Amino acid sequence: MPLQFERALQLLAHAGQAPPPGDPLSPAWQQAMIDRLVELSSRDALTGLANRRAFEMSLEREVDRVARSGEPALLLALDIDHFKRVNDTQGHAAGDQVICAVASALMDSVRPMDLVARVGGEEFAIILPNCASTFGQTVAERIRRRVERMPILLQPSRQELLVTISIGGAFAPQWVRSTPALWKERADQQLYLAKTQGRNLVRLEPSAMSVVSNEEKRLLFDSFQIQDHE
Ligand code: GH3
Ligand code: MG
Ligand code: MG
Repeated sequence: MPLQFERALQLLAHAGQAPPPGDPLSPAWQQAMIDRLVELSSRDALTGLANRRAFEMSLEREVDRVARSGEPALLLALDIDHFKRVNDTQGHAAGDQVICAVASALMDSVRPMDLVARVGGEEFAIILPNCASTFGQTVAERIRRRVERMPILLQPSRQELLVTISIGGAFAPQWVRSTPALWKERADQQLYLAKTQGRNLVRLEPSAMSVVSNEEKRLLFDSFQIQDHE
């Protein structure tokens, strides 16, 4: 029975992508098709950013990398301020345009090696590998200011709108094996502070090592035990 690629081709066409070139039954064509589907399932349909699934996979990889290399890495959690007002006053379609504009601003503010993801409705996350702790505040402030200063031209009303974002950040504890969930939780705690302290603010966890949780200490202890047995 021939392989059924119709649905995959429909999905690609719906996403505005051409089918892979070449002979549809060749292994190279099939591999190209799989590559395109993998890419499609990693992207957020509205903004084209990495989606939550891709973000969680990257976060897991980064946790491993930090534990092995000891290189600092920063995780930022970002949320548009008073976004409900945008939807309520301008409509949902305008809200979507704002989400897309903020997504572009985030992409334009970071290095190619950083991963920008849309992890919820108007919530984003950025993984910044190899980001020195002394540089974290500067990077996050740059992102915050960029959004603050960006007029968004809404269509079809042609009305200009300004929005702000709140940013929380936490460094992965170096040389200690954390978990993606704990790291994310720390960044989210800082985001919560930024929100409650007034919004349009950056709050970064002061120092990862000073706040290593009991759970992370246990993970570190466990990893030493594993090494002892090797
Ligand atoms: P805060 O400053 O505390 O973040 O206030 P907020 O109004 O932004 O509150 P919250 O983050 O809870 O609001 C999220 C809103 O985003 C609620 C939901 O209606 C809207 N939303 C979620 N996903 C989408 C989407 O894909 N498009 C649009 N237009 N709106 C969305
Ligand atoms: Mg939110
Ligand atoms: Mg919000």
